[in-house]
Amino acid sequence: MPIMTLTQITEHTYYMPGANNLGVIATSNGGAIAIDTGLDKDTARRFRKAIDEAGLTLRAIISTHHHADHIGGNDYLLRNVPDVRLHAPPLEATFIEYPLLEPTYLNYGASPIKPLRTRWLMAKGTPVNQIIGETEAIIAGQSFAYEIEGMTLEIIGLPGHSRAQIGVVYEGVCFAADGFFGESIISKHGILYAHDIALQLATFDRLMQRSEAWYLPGHGDLTPTSAIQAVLAANRVAAEHATALVLAAVAQPGDTTAITARVLQAFEQEIAATAGETSLPAQTIPQYAIFASAVVAHLSYLEQQGVVEVVLAERQLLWQRTGATV
Ligand SMILES: [Zn+2]
Repeated sequence: MPIMTLTQITEHTYYMPGANNLGVIATSNGGAIAIDTGLDKDTARRFRKAIDEAGLTLRAIISTHHHADHIGGNDYLLRNVPDVRLHAPPLEATFIEYPLLEPTYLNYGASPIKPLRTRWLMAKGTPVNQIIGETEAIIAGQSFAYEIEGMTLEIIGLPGHSRAQIGVVYEGVCFAADGFFGESIISKHGILYAHDIALQLATFDRLMQRSEAWYLPGHGDLTPTSAIQAVLAANRVAAEHATALVLAAVAQPGDTTAITARVLQAFEQEIAATAGETSLPAQTIPQYAIFASAVVAHLSYLEQQGVVEVVLAERQLLWQRTGATV
């Protein structure tokens, strides 16, 4: 039975726990600001009911980044609740308005193949009413004040997982979106999805320097300040381990498909050795596309550092070691 009520965090902050934790900030006049809306219409319907049962009226949505599991409920809520305004960071807003772009970039920039046109990767597009901040400031990880529904919230740049992802801070609660993942999620997934690994690592460091009482990841448990350093350290370990596995997979040159297969095999061997509840990664085409994209993010990161290079040889784009070390 899915949870249908809001869990209160502080006087004016709440969340609806689930596969994707959805945040709520209560305004001074009975309104609610939602932070992300979940995968689909069903989630959005439950979320709306939970907001109503808390005696609040949805007035605005903040979308932290464009991934389908965070914006999939936007369309339902904007259609069914009157006068709701959608706020999103620049760059992310483009993808939120035109969600075909997500399966497009997962398909070499081409018109998406059918298996990638799934609700897991492609939400319904909706217009964004208000842009939050500026792209460069967000990518630089800056924080700034943002006025919304008569409230002043702090917005923090949490780029990496998605290029212009933001977090929202209010009343000592940091709604961190996918700026970090809960420990149960890390152990389950092996490779943490990111577009840019250097930015993702910097985001972990930035969150480590904060001093909120609570941190809510998009996926995983609400984390008190006493536990956040350990959780962020585990995120960093997981990201660095993925980089190491990818680097090991480039010991022999290979194209993206070959390197991805080697990294998958390495993960499968680790999973077999740990008899945990971890499921095998990339069992479906959408999962494979996400996994391969994350592998390429680590390859690009190694290329930025001069450890790996790309050559065009015998009609193949090959990744290979340069001889430099990390
Ligand atoms: Zn995401």
